[in-house]
Amino acid sequence: MAPRKLAAGNWKMNGDRAALAQIDALAAAQPAPGCDVLICPPATLIQPMAARAAGTSIAVGGQDCHASAAGAHTGDISAAMLREAGASHVILGHSERRADHGETDAGVAAKAAAAHAAGLIAIICLGETEAQRDAGETLAVIGAQLAGSLPPGAGAANTVIAYEPVWAIGTGRTPGIDQIAEVHRFLRAGLQGRVKDAADMALLYGGSVKPGNAAEIFAIADVDGALVGGASLKAEDFGGIIAAL
Ligand code: PEP
Repeated sequence: MAPRKLAAGNWKMNGDRAALAQIDALAAAQPAPGCDVLICPPATLIQPMAARAAGTSIAVGGQDCHASAAGAHTGDISAAMLREAGASHVILGHSERRADHGETDAGVAAKAAAAHAAGLIAIICLGETEAQRDAGETLAVIGAQLAGSLPPGAGAANTVIAYEPVWAIGTGRTPGIDQIAEVHRFLRAGLQGRVKDAADMALLYGGSVKPGNAAEIFAIADVDGALVGGASLKAEDFGGIIAAL
């Protein structure tokens, strides 16, 4: 079975209730069979977005969760809370969280385990910095992040991997086709032996995906969709990416 394709939008700390109108515009753009569409808005919009998306093919996700089920963690949100609000997925270990909040691979693995326990699909983000790529360390960095961030029990049904080179996020720069292909091939091989259904796990590329480059990126072997930041904020752009899946 091939992985399902996924176009996942990460709104980051953007959007308000008025922006939920995007759901109506996107609902018209039906994804092709075998393709899924997800939007991860700020936590305050998960419940109203899920309500607005009910009856459409658009799923809603969170951008982070705590590793604990409940407790004294001011400002945090649990996986079960996301689920109750209507989320089906949660993005974990995004490079902005790794940079802004000091998230580690072990912390990401613990969050992913919590997400799985709550019935959420974890989208685990990995990616090298520009300095690491320039130093020829890309595959070593990705390999270590994959080994450290995958919790026991991860499989194609509850986990998606997103390869997001840090230097390509929000910059308008993307790796070459060969560079994306090399990392995705490496990830697929790295999953073999680590999870039982490695061939079925969706591997997303993320970093400056736009309607104009999506088809070329989606044509790369082992690229099963995209995690999209900036271009997910406008229904027209995200719709163009969905159409390329
Ligand atoms: C992201 O932040 O996950 C991302 C891929 O951003 P952008 O598409 O804006 O590069």
